[in-house]
Amino acid sequence: MATNGETHFDLIVIGGGSGGMACARRAAQYGCKAAIIEATSKLGGTCVNVGCVPKKIMFNTAAFNEMLHGGRHYGYDVRDYSFDWGKIKTMRDAYIRKLNGIYMSNVERAGIAFISGFAAFVGPKTLQVDDVQYTAEHIVIAVGGQPTMPDIPGAELCIDSNGFFAMETQPERIAVVGAGYIAVELAGIFNALGTNTHLFVRHDRPLRTFDPTITSALLTEIERSGLHLHPHSTPVAVTQDEKTGKYTLELEGGVKHDNFDTILMAIGREPMIAPLNLEAANVELTKQGHIKVDEYENTSAPGIYSLGDVNGKVELTPMAIAAGRRLADRVFGGIPGAKAEYDLVPTVVFSHPPIGAVGLTEPEVEKKYGKDGYKVYSSRFTNLYYGHWPIPVDDKQKTVMKIIVVGEEEKVVGLHMLGLSCDEVLQGFAVAMKMGATKADFDATLAIHPTAAEELVTLAPWGLGGKRSNM
Ligand SMILES: Cc1cc2nc3c(=O)[nH]c(=O)nc-3n(C[C@H](O)[C@H](O)[C@H](O)COP(=O)(O)OP(=O)(O)OC[C@H]3O[C@@H](n4cnc5c(N)ncnc54)[C@H](O)[C@@H]3O)c2cc1C
Repeated sequence: MATNGETHFDLIVIGGGSGGMACARRAAQYGCKAAIIEATSKLGGTCVNVGCVPKKIMFNTAAFNEMLHGGRHYGYDVRDYSFDWGKIKTMRDAYIRKLNGIYMSNVERAGIAFISGFAAFVGPKTLQVDDVQYTAEHIVIAVGGQPTMPDIPGAELCIDSNGFFAMETQPERIAVVGAGYIAVELAGIFNALGTNTHLFVRHDRPLRTFDPTITSALLTEIERSGLHLHPHSTPVAVTQDEKTGKYTLELEGGVKHDNFDTILMAIGREPMIAPLNLEAANVELTKQGHIKVDEYENTSAPGIYSLGDVNGKVELTPMAIAAGRRLADRVFGGIPGAKAEYDLVPTVVFSHPPIGAVGLTEPEVEKKYGKDGYKVYSSRFTNLYYGHWPIPVDDKQKTVMKIIVVGEEEKVVGLHMLGLSCDEVLQGFAVAMKMGATKADFDATLAIHPTAAEELVTLAPWGLGGKRSNM
């Protein structure tokens, strides 16, 4: 819906991504006159355009190749097949355009004004977009983030995660630099699709904030998959060979890796704050450069709120959506205590195989409850999917599952797993943990056989711990 010349609103949301859209739509349901200002012509933000959605399509594309490879163990003759990166990109882009259209229709149907352009504050409650000034009683900053590039010579020769989604052809040989989930996921996609893939991480392993049992299992699977991992590798320069066009990555210590078709930097993301001119609205930042908010997403300026990646609290789409909806509930829906909960956030990494995690890691539990204050139940097994494959057992992908419990009642405070389907298994267990489930509650839940998930409700010693130990 165009603004029809209106320039004053109850609510203006800056940023038409996951958090901003959710907030504006929920506020509109309460009868609020809302507008969204979006810098691009597309709605959906990072998640829809250059994040979760196209990434998952590429993960599925890669997983499909893995299934084709395993097809011979299921009686299929799949020797001659080809893959066309251009085709999946065309189909993926078309789907994203469709989603952009659906998002725009949703906004129109909700009666939300859509203003296309970059917003900047010119006063506490006044925003400027091109030549027009807009005012609102309430302003939500939900501008998300953007990929960070390293400050090294030749960085401009590299691509970032946005560049990944623009790639028209599959590289034969690629370097991915970074240790976070985006680097791991994109490297995994390339590797599973047959690109000679090299992952460079600064420390000993990627995903260092995850539970060590899981990252160790990931290292094993990375090795099994043929992905080349380069630990203790900090890039200092990138150069391009004039004749071949190929790229060289130079690391601290002088080691060089060459002959790459592409170098992808995935070293982190930074909030999109600079163009907002936040000084004009007296909105303060944290030391890390995110917008400073309290638990209700209030900034330091009255009537100005901020949510999603730009806060740097939990940078995930469902978190931004929950924060947006809860804020609208509180400010426009008459629910004074409404706020998003930032504990027990379930997280999946779409690695190969995927990782699922919710709650505290073992080092975090140890720090909080002491060395003797917790117990670990775990299992490492071969998924039945690989069971009958006529290959050595050590060559079969392993699933690892682990729960960490505290107190006499053995309350589950951490659940971590890596393996086929763990991405889908996690959600239900996250509900149980949110409800305060104990090991005994897990044990009292009948297994679904044969699944990988059943391991979590049959962890040894099954049925002997906690308050239900008499079963
Ligand atoms: C490669 C990748 C994969 C990801 N995968 C997952 C995943 O699997 N699961 C998951 O939960 N999360 C994933 N994420 C994270 C997820 O995309 C973000 O957490 C989420 O999009 C944050 O939502 P947001 O509303 O804070 O910001 P965004 O969705 O980034 O939206 C911000 C919007 O604000 C606009 N904007 C910026 N500045 C201005 C301005 N001054 N004026 C007007 N508009 C402006 C931007 O154009 C953008 O549209 C992924 C991210 C990336 C990069």
